[in-house]
Amino acid sequence: MHTPLAADFDAAIKQVLLRGDFILGQDVREFEAAFAEASGATYGIGVACGTDAIALGLQACGVGAGDEVIVPANTFIATVIGVIHTGATPVFVDCDRQTALIDLDAAEAAITPRTKAIVPVHLYGQLVPPLRLIDLAERHHLIIFEDAAQAHLAERDGYVAGSIGKAAAYSFYPAKNLGAFGNGGMVVTRDATVADHVRTLRNYGAPKKYLHTEPGTNSRLDTIQAAILNAKLPHLPEWNRDRNACAAQYDRLLAPLAEYGITPIRNDSGVGHIYHLYVLHLSDRAPITREALGHALGDRHISTGIHYPIPCHRQPGYLHLGYSEGAFPNAEALCHEILSLPMFPGLGSDRVEAVCSAIHEIVTTATKA
Ligand SMILES: *Cc1c(COP(=O)(O)O)cnc(C)c1O
Repeated sequence: MHTPLAADFDAAIKQVLLRGDFILGQDVREFEAAFAEASGATYGIGVACGTDAIALGLQACGVGAGDEVIVPANTFIATVIGVIHTGATPVFVDCDRQTALIDLDAAEAAITPRTKAIVPVHLYGQLVPPLRLIDLAERHHLIIFEDAAQAHLAERDGYVAGSIGKAAAYSFYPAKNLGAFGNGGMVVTRDATVADHVRTLRNYGAPKKYLHTEPGTNSRLDTIQAAILNAKLPHLPEWNRDRNACAAQYDRLLAPLAEYGITPIRNDSGVGHIYHLYVLHLSDRAPITREALGHALGDRHISTGIHYPIPCHRQPGYLHLGYSEGAFPNAEALCHEILSLPMFPGLGSDRVEAVCSAIHEIVTTATKA
């Protein structure tokens, strides 16, 4: 997907070199405005990575020491790191076994008088149901801070990722649906006060030069990365549609495997799902384990992934939070039952077909054995 844009990237980088505005330059301002608008927000504040976007965004929303923040147990660990960096305590909850998204009933049950915010993770590219989320937050006076790192412009029920909560975090890590040539991230929000606060926090706690009103940090989106992202952004909708079409083909070709207990993670949002990942779920009825299927595909030079093999509450660095094995049955079971299939724009229907026939062959052989 990068080759046809090579000339655009060269030109974009050359402009930055000519201007020499490497820190918070023109491309950063342009990309902040363009991406905020695309995600249904008003302000975009570019930061060094998605993890910082979560940490600084939550802090700007008023989350800090003494607060509890609800997060799903099955997410990439950066969600949890962002919460911990504010000084708040992450409170894990289980997910739905079919969609792998945070279970909002479980979230409601985890609310205490100290709960300040909920961080819904739009996992794999599908939004957590916006209307139910907003209803929950309103009834309990919680801040919604979206982790949209896997959901660049995903949609559901008329909402786009980043437009549901008080603010949202995006990542432009190279493998995301919109990726830089290095690290990058952004907080998007419709709240001018939150936006100003993130701008201060990312820049040494300085609302203006050499005036430091709080410690803050140094976490800025590089101008060169913003230039790359500006060149890529117009193509994002077409790349997302391409992923969605590949997913629809996977769904169709893999549908017969349902009788073996092998199904994709459920899509409840149609074409609004932007399929950062296409994840297969092998139930305990499946004639083959997730490991065996992954290895057999690897032998055929088809690479797969596991997102993620250990739930956050059972990671060695987080055991002190006090969650035991068995605390979150769905998140713990899914860790052993999921396999991510090849998914990227330009994958193409021939390759999807080849992956599916390989899976059929492997599963059929396992069934006979
Ligand atoms: C990638 C990712 C992040 C963190 O982004 P970085 O830019 O790598 O810091 C946060 N949350 C989720 C769900 C992610 O997938």
